[in-house]
Amino acid sequence: MSTCPQCGASVAANAHNCPQCGADVIFHYVPHPRIAKRKEHAPFKRRDLLPSDGAIQRFNAFLAVKITSAVGTMWCAYLFAGLALVSLPEAIRGGTAPLIAWIAQTFLQLVLLSIIIVGQKVDGVASDKRAVETYNDAEAVLHEAMQIQAHLAAQDKVLTDLIGEVRARKIS
Ligand SMILES: [Zn+2]
Repeated sequence: MSTCPQCGASVAANAHNCPQCGADVIFHYVPHPRIAKRKEHAPFKRRDLLPSDGAIQRFNAFLAVKITSAVGTMWCAYLFAGLALVSLPEAIRGGTAPLIAWIAQTFLQLVLLSIIIVGQKVDGVASDKRAVETYNDAEAVLHEAMQIQAHLAAQDKVLTDLIGEVRARKIS
């Protein structure tokens, strides 16, 4: 449904004249449905996408997030490194094969676990931030487009005024 540039009355989508004042309606504005829909919620963050149906699922997600945030700290990485180092003298005494096994299976696996989670947390925060920025950018672009829309509507009013005046002069 559009509005008349002259009197503001609503005009049917296929009409070319205003039913109230008879002015020419030269454009029908059709807003995209996404414009109304995007007002319903802010951009999704990782937190919003956790399972929310069922108490067991919620508890599992809660526990997983708690454990991940406890393990995913550099302090936990230092703790794991200390723990791994306890068995280092024994691995050195065992020779090359036990030493390689200690490096690969004990030290790297234990310490990298925490460090990778820390890195992923930083990535997650960055992508959440990017999502919000993109949302705000889209909002700004939408606002600009609506300003253009309002500007064009104002010009439509001037044009229909002029057309009416020209027609009135032709008749007289
Ligand atoms: Zn009208």
